[in-house]
Amino acid sequence: MMNRILATAKALETLGLGEIYLTSSLETKENQAVREDRNALLSELFSSYRDCTKCDLHRSRSQVVFGDGNPYSPIVFVGEAPGEEEDRQGRPFVGRAGQYLNRKIEEVLGLKREEVYITNVCKCRPPSNRKPTQPEIRACFPYLRKELEILSPRVICCLGATAAEGILGKNIPVTKARGKFFAYPYDSSVKVLLTYHPAYILRNPRADEQFTEDLERLRDFV
Ligand code: SF4
Repeated sequence: MMNRILATAKALETLGLGEIYLTSSLETKENQAVREDRNALLSELFSSYRDCTKCDLHRSRSQVVFGDGNPYSPIVFVGEAPGEEEDRQGRPFVGRAGQYLNRKIEEVLGLKREEVYITNVCKCRPPSNRKPTQPEIRACFPYLRKELEILSPRVICCLGATAAEGILGKNIPVTKARGKFFAYPYDSSVKVLLTYHPAYILRNPRADEQFTEDLERLRDFV
């Protein structure tokens, strides 16, 4: 993500906005201008927390893992926290769970991973991949809130209970609330859908059908 943002910033500096508008015939000038604005704002946000030590997770990480994908996507997926592979590569959802999620996004929504935006509630890897604590979720939430403000999605898809807790500010059992829409507490025009974390499906393959049903509810937002 950062490499792409820096490349965009460099291109803007080198070419000027007028020429950037000519780089794609697939987008309207207006959409591309919004995209460039969001890239610049995300870049600024990420620079502000890349050395963050606000919670203890900074001790176990190799690097802060930023969100990744299309900043103009109407759908934003939010997971829990980076795992070992994400911490190593510096991108969210790149391990087995990420590969499964990519496949489902393509199968159910007909979209490639890079066409949606994916991020986490906590941006640093917890030791031994444990669940982030409430104080850690609270410490990191201002970054996620600002990230979502910049992305301005139509729907946020929470992958698992930790993501739901971070976004909705309360503990909701995903088994009961999956497939349901809630209002995002900071902007009631944004919907929040709860579903399982992809890692849970890998451990419980029979939940794949329910996960598919939940993702189908996102089709109206594509
Ligand atoms: S998890 Fe968030 S709050 Fe904690 S150190 Fe990392 S970036 Fe900072």
